[in-house]
Amino acid sequence: MSEPILRVDNLESYYGPVMAIRGVSVEVHEGQIVTVLGANGAGKTTLLKTISGIMDPEKGTIHLEGESIQGMEPDQIVRRGVIHVPEGREVFPLLSVEENLLMGAYTRNDKAGVRNDLEMVYGYFPILKDKARQAAGTLSGGQQQMLAIGRGLLAKPKVMLLDEPSLGLSPLLVKEIFTIIKRLNTEQGVTMMLVEQNAKVALDTAHHGYVMEIGRIVMNDKAPVLAASKDIQEFYLGVQ
Ligand code: ATP
Repeated sequence: MSEPILRVDNLESYYGPVMAIRGVSVEVHEGQIVTVLGANGAGKTTLLKTISGIMDPEKGTIHLEGESIQGMEPDQIVRRGVIHVPEGREVFPLLSVEENLLMGAYTRNDKAGVRNDLEMVYGYFPILKDKARQAAGTLSGGQQQMLAIGRGLLAKPKVMLLDEPSLGLSPLLVKEIFTIIKRLNTEQGVTMMLVEQNAKVALDTAHHGYVMEIGRIVMNDKAPVLAASKDIQEFYLGVQ
């Protein structure tokens, strides 16, 4: 198989004395959706924060297209094309929906390309177009999640890191958002690393999956293989 677009090897990250990730290695190939599953506190958010440069790893390496990005400032990592869509969305509540989307494009100066991508995002999320002039703080949770994903897309990501897009959403909305995530992957070729507690929807959407427990990867396989595994069914899918 070809060289992965994103490769993380043996990563260790700490909060003070607490080791939150303990030698994690993951690979994402171009055009894939890779999911990292795990319970609350397993270290998924820490992994994404370390890849996007918000946290510095104590050990290990991170390569994008074969080049080391570890130790770079978050801003430089964004410019390289690794775009983090954080848990809890973190939209700018007082800015309009469209202003929030355009914030995603702050590193770009191809105005026509940005316009095109804005229309592309409105095509996938028509509700954002309807509410383009409204303050983002007035959107529902699901709409804010759409806005956070849309803002990430405006950065033209090489790899999009999505932290728990299902968090706090109704099952119907989760389904809707994951359908769009899948379409963005198949139709726009967006490569994604998707961190989730909702194993069912994540494995239905992803090509490949990793399972994290207490800071370590404990399973790693193609998504359908994980979905069929007895351990995953018992512990993550609630199948008796
Ligand atoms: P969640 O789904 O709740 O975000 P997670 O799998 O993303 O869970 P992390 O948030 O990465 O897990 O947390 C990994 C470990 O690091 C946990 O034991 C957590 O208690 C600890 N931790 C997370 N944030 C901090 C912090 N700011 N200070 C100290 N410890 C932290």
